[in-house]
Amino acid sequence: MIAVKGYAAQNAKTPLAPFSFERRTPGANDVLIDILYCGVCHSDIHQARDEWGGSIFPMVPGHEIVGRVAQVGSGVKNFKVGDLAGVGCLVDSCRTCPSCQQNLEQFCEVHSVGTYNSLEMDRKTPTYGGYSNKIVVDERFTLKVSDKLKLDEVAPLLCAGITTYSPLRHWKVGKGQKVAVVGLGGLGHMGVKFAAAFGAEVTVLSTSSAKEKDARRLGAHHFINTNNADEVKKARGRFDFILNTVSAQHDYNFLLNMAKLDGTMVLVGVPPEAVPVHAFSLIGGRKSLAGSLIGGLKETQEMLDFCAAHNITSDVEVIAIKDIESAYARMIKGDVRYRFVIDMATL
Ligand code: NAP
Ligand code: ZN
Ligand code: ZN
Repeated sequence: MIAVKGYAAQNAKTPLAPFSFERRTPGANDVLIDILYCGVCHSDIHQARDEWGGSIFPMVPGHEIVGRVAQVGSGVKNFKVGDLAGVGCLVDSCRTCPSCQQNLEQFCEVHSVGTYNSLEMDRKTPTYGGYSNKIVVDERFTLKVSDKLKLDEVAPLLCAGITTYSPLRHWKVGKGQKVAVVGLGGLGHMGVKFAAAFGAEVTVLSTSSAKEKDARRLGAHHFINTNNADEVKKARGRFDFILNTVSAQHDYNFLLNMAKLDGTMVLVGVPPEAVPVHAFSLIGGRKSLAGSLIGGLKETQEMLDFCAAHNITSDVEVIAIKDIESAYARMIKGDVRYRFVIDMATL
């Protein structure tokens, strides 16, 4: 076994604290990665505080992992010691069901193994995430990371990046379309960068008017403060596509009003409580309400390669791991610009 240091939540109520644990000895197809940076996703907060229910404790959160390969198993073909590598939200799946065969491992019909707060395919061994100094992952679930980009800024691509890239690609967002990104946090700011890179006309819908200048710098063409009734009124029926990244309770009907005829709102944000949707919000205008979950391994690699080719990374604030709780508190207030990333040298 491999001795690992990390930070864990012991239960939903107490702050994260240092935690020592073990990972499996790398098998023939495994890579051992020395973790350099790990991004802080709002899903880490939801799960560490058991806001979605069913959390597994102790929990080592973190699924935006970049590091360097320290060891490879005898059967590993695509990685060698010293390579940069990334790990996102998934570390295994059945590999044979129809979803896995279509490179949609996140929708595995048997069991997809989350990087943390999940059980391995044996359904017994808990998985521990990237708030730690080492991880062991099958090479099939390990991503290639370019050495052209800053590593701390690459980490958030592994979740915030793919979670916004995938729906924009799936719904074929591009030139000639008006796109709204709701919530300018970790996911939202990546959604703005990708939608702008794909040629769409991008509007940020935010509760924080102080973010307007940043929104434009990130690539948005327009900004609407959702607390300003006049601005909201003008946006009625405007958008072809709304990417909703909001992490807390809010009104979907209010946002669907801003979709145009045949427009779609895709949920990626996961407020803990169910949100009521009125049929009138959809039928008048033949609108669609949809959802999207991270992305498969193939598309995640495609997204990382797209970012390397187009020089796209996340805007980050690098923190020491001891400051994780204050980072969580700031994220809950919407005070993130635009992703906290833990420097694992501070562990
Ligand atoms: P984040 O960085 O905290 O950003 C969320 C943003 O939502 C905030 O910055 C804020 O933006 C807005 N917001 C927060 N509370 C709000 C409220 N009460 N009303 C309206 N807007 C509010 O979070 P994140 O890491 O981007 O994650 C966002 C959500 O996506 C979380 O629920 C997370 O669990 C989920 N997620 C889903 C997937 C998936 O696969 N579907 C993957 C990763 C994360 P403004 O200040 O601009 O208003
Ligand atoms: Zn995430
Ligand atoms: Zn499967």
